[in-house]
Amino acid sequence: MTTRYDATRDDIAEVLGDAPRYRVDQVWQGLYQHCTEPGDWTNLPLGLRSELAERLPAALTPVTESVSDDGDTVKFLWELDGGERIETVLMLYRDRATVCVSSQAGCAMACGFCATGQAGFTRHLTVGEIVEQIARATRRAADVDRRVSNVVYMGMGEPMANEERVWRSVERLHGEFGLSARHITISTVGLVPGIRALAERPLPVNLAVSLHAANDDLRDDLVPINRRYPIDDLLDACSDYLAARNRRISFEWAMIDGVNDRDLDAAELAALCRRLRPRAHVNLIPLNPTPGYPTTGSSLRRVHEFRDLLESLGANATVRQNRGTEIDAACGQLAAGQPVRIETTRRASSPPDAPSDTG
Ligand code: SAH
Repeated sequence: MTTRYDATRDDIAEVLGDAPRYRVDQVWQGLYQHCTEPGDWTNLPLGLRSELAERLPAALTPVTESVSDDGDTVKFLWELDGGERIETVLMLYRDRATVCVSSQAGCAMACGFCATGQAGFTRHLTVGEIVEQIARATRRAADVDRRVSNVVYMGMGEPMANEERVWRSVERLHGEFGLSARHITISTVGLVPGIRALAERPLPVNLAVSLHAANDDLRDDLVPINRRYPIDDLLDACSDYLAARNRRISFEWAMIDGVNDRDLDAAELAALCRRLRPRAHVNLIPLNPTPGYPTTGSSLRRVHEFRDLLESLGANATVRQNRGTEIDAACGQLAAGQPVRIETTRRASSPPDAPSDTG
């Protein structure tokens, strides 16, 4: 059965049967402008509402909603049709909101410091499962008078391993929710084929690359997919993306004490930033605690020193504000309650399999 945010206008017309054509627009408005449930669509006859609710089911069943102490970060835990669980984070700002969406249940990339990676891969999300996360977060933001202005694909999963469906969800955000491409950011661990596919797509979305290490030795260890797509190949794909797009790329860098926060790391990172035109921007993320990674984050003082060092070497950097750590909603903490593999030793030498659209 098609879920409501997987459904096309044609699917809806089919469900509506003999009803007048303008009903399709009313349903579409309910889904994409009001982000409400069929039961709320009082401009439709009652019988139609219940038929729509039944034949276009929701993809996400709410399990829990956690709110940070200051009330500005909301984490949703959802159950999917097959019992899998995923999370979505809504970040509220003074006059707008950002949604952080998941693209897969779990993740196969096995980055040791990330809770999603620690839990392993379950499956790709469908277009409807991705889009419904945004619809529901938009509704929740509207309850507190905020409009969703930005969507970041930085939740659970590797979006570029699910590029086709992720792309179709981007089209919905752009076409139906009215978000401009500059307000949509896709974050990738560095899957070169995915970055190349994205460069061919017609909308110039922002690209963030989770770099975390600027030499292959260290990156092989921190981000195991680097063994398949080493830094030189990744930087080539980034250059080609920039050539196709008028956008800046950002590098994500989770600061791990004594591992990637040394002066030498800053020098190597700045050199990579300078290789791209325009230069890459660095987002420094103080490492968030996760159950399966024993190493601690750099001190806040070191994070700021590292930023200053980068700036002095010609690379722009910002320190990302950490939000929602107390509800495990911050970068790298989304595990949807999955048990994690506790790993304290260096990983084996084979790179993770990257399940992708093409198999
Ligand atoms: N798989 C994609 C999308 C996830 S984005 C990607 O890797 O880009 C989540 C971001 O949080 C990534 O940049 C990831 O590397 C970072 N991250 C993971 N674990 C973290 C942790 N413990 N502390 C801080 N950042 C972390």
